[in-house]
Amino acid sequence: MSAKIIDGKKIAASLRLKITEGSARLAKIIGRPLGLAVVLVGDNPASEVYVRNKTRSCVEVGINSFDYKLPTLTSEADVLALVAKLNNDKAVDGILVQLPLPDHIDSTRILNAIDPAKDVDGFNPINFGRLVAGLPTLAPGTPLGCVILAKSVHMSLAGLEAVVLGRSNIVGKPLAQLLLQENATVTIAHSKTRDLPSICRRADLLCVAIGRPEFVRGDWIKKGATVIDVGVNRIPADGGKTRIVGDVAFDEAAKIAGAITPVPGGVGPMTITCLLQNTLRAAALRAGISVPTI
Ligand code: NAP
Repeated sequence: MSAKIIDGKKIAASLRLKITEGSARLAKIIGRPLGLAVVLVGDNPASEVYVRNKTRSCVEVGINSFDYKLPTLTSEADVLALVAKLNNDKAVDGILVQLPLPDHIDSTRILNAIDPAKDVDGFNPINFGRLVAGLPTLAPGTPLGCVILAKSVHMSLAGLEAVVLGRSNIVGKPLAQLLLQENATVTIAHSKTRDLPSICRRADLLCVAIGRPEFVRGDWIKKGATVIDVGVNRIPADGGKTRIVGDVAFDEAAKIAGAITPVPGGVGPMTITCLLQNTLRAAALRAGISVPTI
């Protein structure tokens, strides 16, 4: 193996220290602790674990966590009413509605109802539009984390040939926009793209978010490239167990790449950290203090 391993846990930990300091300083200025409201509807076990981690992480950095756990059969109108209440609650700086929502609730309608100034997940179309327009906004945590990891390797991303494999609204599209803002030359590839291997081989920075275990092979990677693997896939392992792998065949890729994120331990730890950073940013922006996105 020759690639440098990009240690997401370590980078996230140092960012959390800065968030802890920043939220304590801001709390003094605004005269109250920062607050993040998390709304969970139903009992999806993966969502429950994720929400618990968020709550713990908030406490760690000194942000109040307001958790709302609603039964599966909660009506869309009741969720909208809760979002409206949180929009008007001065103690709440960020609102996050955990997805997926139960089938009878229209997620788009709920996400659109969150005040863009408190939309710390960055999924409200107003924030997405502002991101595309290059205006100050709250961008989604996972792509923000990817850019921070890429910048831990490259002082500047300007002029780099960046390929983003995947075009989802939560990862691929916002990531491409953030990379464009960093002045990379960005190609977005997806399931209808022809000759993916040769497109990936052009990349100085290859970001993969497709949800296909070990799909990107070592010979798709340009020698010395930086590889950011967003994928989280559970596959069968020895002894009837399972293990988690990314979208990139790590062992093959690590022989060719210059730097690569592991799965787990790469992008994953950055996602919640960037959510906390967004909460700090949202609170600062509401207080009229400007804070850079990255
Ligand atoms: P998604 O909504 O399912 O989107 C997948 C994207 O990959 C789509 O744009 C799709 O193309 C493309 N794609 C699928 N199969 C492909 C193929 N064979 N060749 C080329 N492109 C292909 O997924 P997502 O939400 O972006 O998540 C992607 C992965 O990241 C998942 O493994 C997810 O678990 C992981 N993830 C991790 C974190 C984290 O914090 N670490 C956060 C979010 C997501 P089309 O648009 O053409 O269908």
